[in-house]
Amino acid sequence: MNGASRGTGRWWRPRSLRTQLLLWLVTLHLGAAMLTAWFSFVAYGNLVHNALDEQMRLVAESYAGSDPAKLPRPMNGEAAFSRGAFIVQIWSADGHTLRATSWPVLAVPLQAQPGFGDVNTGTHAGSAWRVFTAPPGTRADQPRVQVLQNEDYRRRRALRRALLEGLPITLLLPLALLILWIIVSAASRSLRAVARDVASQDERSPTELSLARVPDEIAPLVGAFNNLLSRVRSAFATQRRFVQDAAHELRTPMAAIGLQIENLRAHVPAGEATERFNQLEAGVTRAQHLIEQLLHLSRQDAPQGGDARERVDVEVLLRESVSQLMVLADARRVDIGFEGSIAAVVFAPAAELRSVFDNLIDNALRYAPEGGVVDVKLHEAEGHAVVDVLDNGPGIPPAAIGRVFDRFFRVPGAVAGGSGLGLAIARTAAERHGLRIELCNRADGPGLMARVHLPSAAA
Ligand code: ADP
Repeated sequence: MNGASRGTGRWWRPRSLRTQLLLWLVTLHLGAAMLTAWFSFVAYGNLVHNALDEQMRLVAESYAGSDPAKLPRPMNGEAAFSRGAFIVQIWSADGHTLRATSWPVLAVPLQAQPGFGDVNTGTHAGSAWRVFTAPPGTRADQPRVQVLQNEDYRRRRALRRALLEGLPITLLLPLALLILWIIVSAASRSLRAVARDVASQDERSPTELSLARVPDEIAPLVGAFNNLLSRVRSAFATQRRFVQDAAHELRTPMAAIGLQIENLRAHVPAGEATERFNQLEAGVTRAQHLIEQLLHLSRQDAPQGGDARERVDVEVLLRESVSQLMVLADARRVDIGFEGSIAAVVFAPAAELRSVFDNLIDNALRYAPEGGVVDVKLHEAEGHAVVDVLDNGPGIPPAAIGRVFDRFFRVPGAVAGGSGLGLAIARTAAERHGLRIELCNRADGPGLMARVHLPSAAA
């Protein structure tokens, strides 16, 4: 996690797209299910109502027109409430006397107005009734008929139907959620792939991110990022070219100054002038060293064109490095020794490996006191091959040891003149080829030990 707080967002707009989508989908689905149920409750309610009304009318007519001997079949409350059975009442022609009824318990008088109506026999549940009162017959002695049906039963039927209508949408919800989950997961997988692509970029030569498997919605973001990368790349290249050109341009005049100084040496009078002259010469040497390091650095920063890897015998390489730096050792009267107790081979460009060891040995020679001792040892430690470069100089203060690999960092008050670039160059080259540099102050006396861990297959 990075330090920036992302917050949690409002509950209806969480930071996670997936949660947001799922939340809205569930709400939408439940809303749709409820609406469907409501509409079908209203529509089907009307349908049921009209159909049952029609049936009531037919039943009433069947009794009204028939012979007076036809009597309603007796029934009970269970049939009236649970099955919505019709309750038939046969009244005298004047409508005052109830001659027969299928369920005597229900006491609803003959309605004054013929046709459909609603009556209530109380306030408790199930006390509402739908009633159809047949109009008086043409004959004077014709009995009056009234049919009733429980209103609750009708409502329950409409409700059951409405719930059944809403059921498929509700059942589809888990499936829709699963599909959405899969789609969002696939989208976030491609986002993670883009993030992995970005994370694995080489900061010196960032390459464009592939748009192949990126969803259309994210493509503009990746496109904008690619655009930024190409600008960063060209800014890097410009900066690198500038350092390279400047260092290159400085190299020739510096070499000329070096030669002039060399030629002048014979003509410098002894005494203070020689002392000043030596300082001037040291300054020029330092400047030349800095220019070389800058050139090296800018070459190292260039995109890697796949330097040829070769089989490098580490012992041979170290002997070459030591013998080349012998001039510096002699100048400072430092006793430098090499000791190889194992054979080690590394597959890497020899020049890159040389820059690792050259920089470390060069440092040891420069920071060891005049007349000091530097040892280079190739041996096995911690189960693999290592190269130790030991000197008896001042070592590095523990507080600064983590920073000495930074470009241009120099320990304040460091005696030997330098550029602050040597260790940065050494580490970049080492890491590129699977080597690791470890610095620690020596436990057996003053001085620094620089240990290079070779790749485990080296020994
Ligand atoms: P420089 O050109 O200044 O030596 P480096 O990157 O090689 O640059 O080293 C960075 C700093 O680390 C140096 O300025 C010095 O203070 C310290 N350092 C490096 N090697 C040694 C050493 N062998 N002994 C003491 N100090 C060292």
